[in-house]
Amino acid sequence: MTTPARRQYLQIKGQYPETLLLYQVGDFYETFDEDARIAARELQIVLTARRYGEELVPLAGIPLHALDNYVGKLVARGYRVAICDQTSEASNKGIVERAVTRILTAGTLSEPNLLPARQNNYLAAIARGHGQTGLAAVDVSTGEFSVTWFSPEEMPAALDAELQRLAPAECLVAEAQQARMQWPAETMTVTPCPAHFFAVEAAQQRLCDLFQARSLEAYGCARVPQAISAAGAVVAYLEKMNARLLALLTGLRSYSAASYMVLDAHTQRNLDLLQGARSGMLQGSLLSVLDRTITPMGARFLRRALTRPLLDLNQLHARQESIEELYESPALRSRFSMALQRLGDMERIAGRVRQGTAVPREVLGLREYLQVMPHIAELLRGCDATLLNELAGSLDACPEVSALIGQALARGGGEDEQEGDGHLIRAGFHVELDELIASIRDSRRWMLALEASERARTGINKLKVGFNKVFGYYIEVSNARLDMVPADYMRKQTLTNAERFITPEMKEHEARILSAEERIDELERSIYVDVLRQLSVYYERVMRTAAALALLDMLLSLAEVAAHQGYTRPQLDQSGALEITGGRHPVVEWTLDGDSFIPNDTRLAPLEDKEDAKSPRIVLLTGPNMAGKSTYLRQVALIVLLAQIGSFVPARRARIGLVDRIFTRVGAEDDIASGKSTFMVEMEETATILHHATRHSLIILDEIGRGTSTYDGLAIARSVVEYLHNTVGARTFFATHYHELAVLAAELAHLSVSTMETRDEGEGKILFLHRVVPGSLGRSYGIHVARLAGMPATVVKRADEILKRLEHEREQLQALLAPERGNGYHTGNAVYRREHSAESRSNYAWQSAEGCAVGQILAEQDDACADLLDEIDVYAITPMDALNLLFVMQKQRKEARKISVIEEHDHA
Ligand code: ATP
Repeated sequence: MTTPARRQYLQIKGQYPETLLLYQVGDFYETFDEDARIAARELQIVLTARRYGEELVPLAGIPLHALDNYVGKLVARGYRVAICDQTSEASNKGIVERAVTRILTAGTLSEPNLLPARQNNYLAAIARGHGQTGLAAVDVSTGEFSVTWFSPEEMPAALDAELQRLAPAECLVAEAQQARMQWPAETMTVTPCPAHFFAVEAAQQRLCDLFQARSLEAYGCARVPQAISAAGAVVAYLEKMNARLLALLTGLRSYSAASYMVLDAHTQRNLDLLQGARSGMLQGSLLSVLDRTITPMGARFLRRALTRPLLDLNQLHARQESIEELYESPALRSRFSMALQRLGDMERIAGRVRQGTAVPREVLGLREYLQVMPHIAELLRGCDATLLNELAGSLDACPEVSALIGQALARGGGEDEQEGDGHLIRAGFHVELDELIASIRDSRRWMLALEASERARTGINKLKVGFNKVFGYYIEVSNARLDMVPADYMRKQTLTNAERFITPEMKEHEARILSAEERIDELERSIYVDVLRQLSVYYERVMRTAAALALLDMLLSLAEVAAHQGYTRPQLDQSGALEITGGRHPVVEWTLDGDSFIPNDTRLAPLEDKEDAKSPRIVLLTGPNMAGKSTYLRQVALIVLLAQIGSFVPARRARIGLVDRIFTRVGAEDDIASGKSTFMVEMEETATILHHATRHSLIILDEIGRGTSTYDGLAIARSVVEYLHNTVGARTFFATHYHELAVLAAELAHLSVSTMETRDEGEGKILFLHRVVPGSLGRSYGIHVARLAGMPATVVKRADEILKRLEHEREQLQALLAPERGNGYHTGNAVYRREHSAESRSNYAWQSAEGCAVGQILAEQDDACADLLDEIDVYAITPMDALNLLFVMQKQRKEARKISVIEEHDHA
């Protein structure tokens, strides 16, 4: 037989099977059964057991006051935690009523101490249908609620990119679809939800009810069922988990990812925008260099802006103009910065006021922050930049809010006993409260004076008057003086060395005080809740103000970085040009400590430059490992990205034609989880680029075709470059070890070849100068890098020997075939382009040593070899090609002889 208490627990737990239930028992939250085992393991707390009737139940508990800390850990590990509170005092039946008051999940946290301050915390929902895919996201700590959708052609890349950008803590999907989805390998809790959360009509109704709107027309998503479905699922989920959070959702913003520069998921990672690739942390990221924001909302804004560069010239110019003004005046920057330092997280506090969960300290903080607004607005109005001026207009000091808080809350906020008598609500705000407090003022004074008067009356000079929660007021007399106690003292409590008493008169005052205080507490709490409710009317005004401050904070941060790091204002236009003088990599230069970074230039001419018809659109960058190719490529991309968030850039001068997308194909990310080889991933990424890039895109290719044999790799690399050149026309930077590709410069009008300069110091020492220079280097320095990397000396030596021999053979052949070599820069493999009609001639097809199919051999015996010889570019052919060619020619000769023998036989 089990007990009623156990039955009550089981009944509640039965309603929340998929959560970890924290169950209030007095001053503790207890967990039972399997939950207890999990809690003990995850939280490192003691697992014990308690007997209920005949049953021995596992149990682990945490103190009430430590809830946040423990819940934070559980939620971070992906658990859903239901909080079950006592909702009544113990009744005469002995069982306290209890109810689950909220469920905490990774995506629904709004407790400030459980959230990273400088980062948004999104709950997302994905709705997939036959047509579009909808993605909704909400940050319940700031009220930001938005939705977007993708066409079937954009999937899954666009969804991946958006998920990467938002990095939601939790993502809702319909149960039926969970298995069919692939997730980015991030730390995201995936929460399957029942299908009815996503049902379009119900979702629409839910949203209309929430916004008290008749249709969703005004929210921009009325015609996209999947968008409605995703947004509706978010609302349904919040309703179930913690309905109070719904108060924060005042609207829904529909956006199209196409209105920003598109950064696919790989590119966001490859460019280390928010996380350094190595550390997986802030360190080494672009954000770590740029973030000098002061307020949490500014920090969150910058983070969002970095993954959402703009495409609109006007907006960008407005930001640039503001940054320039701040950049030029250190005094102005420091005035703004001092003002911003006085602010806290207005966004999240406003949210908590609206939910009714803000504590008095936060509310009083909000008032202080709002009082800084006139000062900031005045500074802004004194600026010349239009955007800064406009921001002044968006700052709303909300005097009603300040006034109400000022009138209602005692400054001590109930925490400081000195101020406001330890009361939460200020005197004069509420008549009934004031009267109650006044009604016991005399009794309190009487109590305060009691010690002195009793000492005088009894002559016991060590007599004490005190108070405790259990026994109330008392007079304490030590055992030694008990004989002096007067007759009206009534014994209340016995201690080891003393007795505690009370008098009838004291009892009367005590009763008055205690009953009034209970009433005062209650009243204060209800007044406080009411004040929060009144304040929450101003929620949207406070949020608009916070948004303006966030933008200001970001602009200030960018100006600060520009000034300290020597950035300049780039010229932005739609020309398609990319001209950077003295460009630097913002993160590498930061880690190298300033002046040791070698700046490099970039020069891609405007699209419509008629005079310069041969100006490059594609830069092929060759050079040894470790010479700085990757750094250079990323530097170009980062400069463009910075320019398109409106920032200044690390360069002496820059002109940047706006870029619609940045594509990167970098390194090799194995995707073992999805069963794809490195090479497959590489090819897929490349295919995506070729399909989606436009003339306005920027493409960064750091090696292509390394994952397969040299022949295949070189062939693919070459054909990709040709396609980009002839068909796509995007600005492209292609780093490669295939120096053989350099020959393309002669064939493709808009391709230029550069290399990383090195200096041979002799004795196997190579100096990397990190300078990009025109031309190509005829060799790689793999062995040199192997030595630097600490390979065993024997291996390095042997590799050197082998290389020397190979090079020797190659040189001999080259000397034989091409006595007059070029100008010191190697020109790569044979250019061999004559077209042959397949039917008439070809018998032998062959490939160049480096993998390029260079043509087919004429096989009409008579002049086949002669034709072949005519077509060789002896200045360009590589030794291997030459060997192959010789082989083919010989074979043709033999073939020819065989045929003529057969013919002779026939004649005979
Ligand atoms: P790999 O082919 O092996 O990837 P890489 O040519 O791409 O090599 P990077 O990784 O770009 O070489 O650069 C190697 C190191 O050289 C960087 O970590 C950086 O410390 C340094 N470096 C690169 N560029 C510069 C520069 N412009 N000025 C100073 N140091 C640089």
